[in-house]
Amino acid sequence: MSREDSASGPPDDPVAELEYRQRTLQEVSDIISGTDQSFNEQIDALLEVVREAIGTDYATFSYVEGDSYVFEAVDVPTDVNLHAGKIVPLDELPNCKHVVETEQTLVLRDVEEEAPELADPTWGIACYIGSPVFAGNEVYGTFCFYGMESRAEEFSDWDKTLVELVSNRVNSQLAQREREQTLRDAKLQMEAAVEAGAVGTWEWRIPEDRFIAGPSFAETFGVDPKAASEGVSLNQFVSSIHKDDRDRVQRRIDEAIESGEVYEEEYRVWNENDELRWVLARGHVEYDDDGNPQTFPGALIDITDRKHAEQQLESLNSRLKKSNKRLEQFAYAASHDLQEPLRMVSSYLRLLENRYGDTLDEDAHEFLDFAVNGADRMRNMIDELLAYSRVESHGSRFRPVNLNDVLADVQTDLQRQIAEKTAEITVENLPQVEGDANQFRQLFRNLLENSLEYSGDEPPRIHVSADQDGNGVVIAVQDEGIGIEPDAQERIFEEFERLHSREEHTGTGIGLALCQRIVERHDGEIWVESEPGEGSTFFVSFPISPI
Ligand code: ADP
Repeated sequence: MSREDSASGPPDDPVAELEYRQRTLQEVSDIISGTDQSFNEQIDALLEVVREAIGTDYATFSYVEGDSYVFEAVDVPTDVNLHAGKIVPLDELPNCKHVVETEQTLVLRDVEEEAPELADPTWGIACYIGSPVFAGNEVYGTFCFYGMESRAEEFSDWDKTLVELVSNRVNSQLAQREREQTLRDAKLQMEAAVEAGAVGTWEWRIPEDRFIAGPSFAETFGVDPKAASEGVSLNQFVSSIHKDDRDRVQRRIDEAIESGEVYEEEYRVWNENDELRWVLARGHVEYDDDGNPQTFPGALIDITDRKHAEQQLESLNSRLKKSNKRLEQFAYAASHDLQEPLRMVSSYLRLLENRYGDTLDEDAHEFLDFAVNGADRMRNMIDELLAYSRVESHGSRFRPVNLNDVLADVQTDLQRQIAEKTAEITVENLPQVEGDANQFRQLFRNLLENSLEYSGDEPPRIHVSADQDGNGVVIAVQDEGIGIEPDAQERIFEEFERLHSREEHTGTGIGLALCQRIVERHDGEIWVESEPGEGSTFFVSFPISPI
C-alpha cells in the first residue's frame, strides 16, 4: 500500500465502518496469534494495521532508557528521517514523556488547543494517541500514533481501545521475551559451569520421579553410579544431603517447580567415602505446553575448597577482631595507668624546681629541664595513645556536624602556634556531614598541627577545601611545606611511624594513625598526595552524602 492513501482512516458509512472495524480486529488478532512471525515482525505489522485503522501518518513503538527514548519500530512517511534504533531525549517528546510518567493512555485531537504544555518544540506533533507498554510492573515504553496536523474529528473510543489492546498484548510478549532471556542466561551459565569443572549434570524427569545423573555426580552423593545412570528416585539423592540442609534444599526444589525461576543452592552432602563435601547446584524446570513441570536439568560443582577457604577467612577475621579488641583494651589500660605515676613525676619535678631552684647550679637546671621536657612528651604520647585506643569504644553517636564549626574550633585551639609561625590558614565553605564531632575535631586538629609543624622555613600557608559528588565528600588540607617522599606516603599512617628525629621535629607518630582510625570509623578513607619540597595535601573522604 502506498503511504499517501494509507492514513485515510475508517470509512464514513456506519455499516461499512463496523465491517471495517471487524476486519481490523481480525487482522490484529491474526497478527497476534500467528506463529510464523518474529516478535519484531509482529510489531511492524501491528503498527501498520493500527495506524491505518485510526488514520494517523505516524506510528512508533519505543522504549525508555534513562532519559532517552529509543525507537524500536516505526511506520512513518517515507520522506521522514525516523528509523528504528534512533535515540532522542525524552524531553523532546513531551507527549510520550507524559504517557511514561502517568502510565496512562493519552489522547489529543489537537495538541496546541487541548494541552499546549505538551506541544513539542522540534517535531511539531499536532495530534496524538499513545499508550504505555509495560514489562512486568515497570513502564517499558510507548506505543503511539500521531500526525503533524490536528484532526478535525476526535479519536473515537474504539481507536483508544484498539491502541490499548495492542499495547497490552505487547506487554505480555515482552514479559515472555524477558523470561526466555533468563532461561537463555541460565543455560549459558550452566554450560560455563560444566566447562569450569562441574562435578556433573543431572536431569530429573519429574512425572516419573526418575533422577538421572553421571558417575561422578552419583559418587558425590554416595549413590551407585550404574543405578544413577538409569535413573533413581530424587529421594535417593536428597537423603545424602546433610540433615541440617536437607529441608531447605527440598523446599527450594519445590519453589523452583512452582515459580519456574532458576534454582541455585549451596549445601553439604555425604559422598561415597562418607566425607562431607560442599556443592553448588544450579538448574531450572522445564514445562510442557499446559504448564506441567516435565524435566529439571541442572549442574553441580564441588565448592568444598572455596567453602573451607571462606570458613578459614571468617575464623581468621574473628580472631583478628578479638585480638584487636584485646590490644585496644591493653593500650587503654596501660596508658590510663601510666597517667598517675607520670603526674607524680611531673609534680615532684615542679616541687624540686620551686623549692630548691635557687640552690641548684646551671647543670642541675638543665637536667631538670630535660626531665620536665621528657615528662611532657610522655604525657602527649599517653594522651594520644588513649585517644587512639578509644576511637571505637568511646566514640559518640553520629550526628550532623557542621565542618565549618569544627575548623573554627580547631583554629582557636591552635591559636598560639598559628600566631607564633605567622601562619595563614584559609578555609572554604565546608559541608555538613554525619559523624562524631569530637573525633572530627581531633582529626582536623592533627592535620592542621602537622601542616604547621612540617611547613619548612617559610610561614605556613594552609588551605582547606571540600569537594562533593554523588559518592560523598572529600576534604583536602593543603600545605606548602617540606612534603613527603613517595615511598613514605603510605607508611606515615602507621602507628609510631615518623620520618624525622625528635631533634628536628617533636611528635609521637600516632597523629596520622589516629586520623586513619577516625576516618575508618566513619567508613571513609584518608590519603596524601605530596611532592617533596613543594608541599602535601591530605585528603579525607566520607562516603556519606552531605546534609
Ligand atoms: P607526628 O606526631 O610525628 O607528627 P604523625 O602520625 O602525625 O606523627 O605523622 C607521621 C609523620 O608523617 C610525621 O613524623 C611527618 O614526618 C610526616 N608528616 C605528617 N604530616 C605531614 C605534612 N603535612 N608534611 C610533611 N610531612 C608530614
